[in-house]
Amino acid sequence: MSHLRQNVITKDWVIFATERSKRPHEFARSHGDTPPELPRYKHGCPFCQGNENPSETEYLRIEDERGWRVRIIPNKYPALSPIGDRVRHSEGIHRSITGVGLSGAEKSEKRC
Ligand SMILES: [Zn+2]
Repeated sequence: MSHLRQNVITKDWVIFATERSKRPHEFARSHGDTPPELPRYKHGCPFCQGNENPSETEYLRIEDERGWRVRIIPNKYPALSPIGDRVRHSEGIHRSITGVGLSGAEKSEKRC
């Protein structure tokens, strides 16, 4: 299970989710690469309007007259688990919390 650690200097909380290393990396780009030109619609693309999975849980949908503009759905490789207890640990100046919560994926602007 993932966990959150507090940066002792900035006090920011950072998620450590080693399970996310199982995500596919074939779409990764090098820093500075120009993003590829994307088609407006691609058959079978789960991010294109019209290809939504009706059994998929949807946390949020923002629509206009042309259809949905933003959808937030469960992330296939979540950083946090919705199941479990949020347990705080403290050892000296180091603080951590179990990685319990929701993390979603955003689908927006009908682009592949
Ligand atoms: Zn698409």
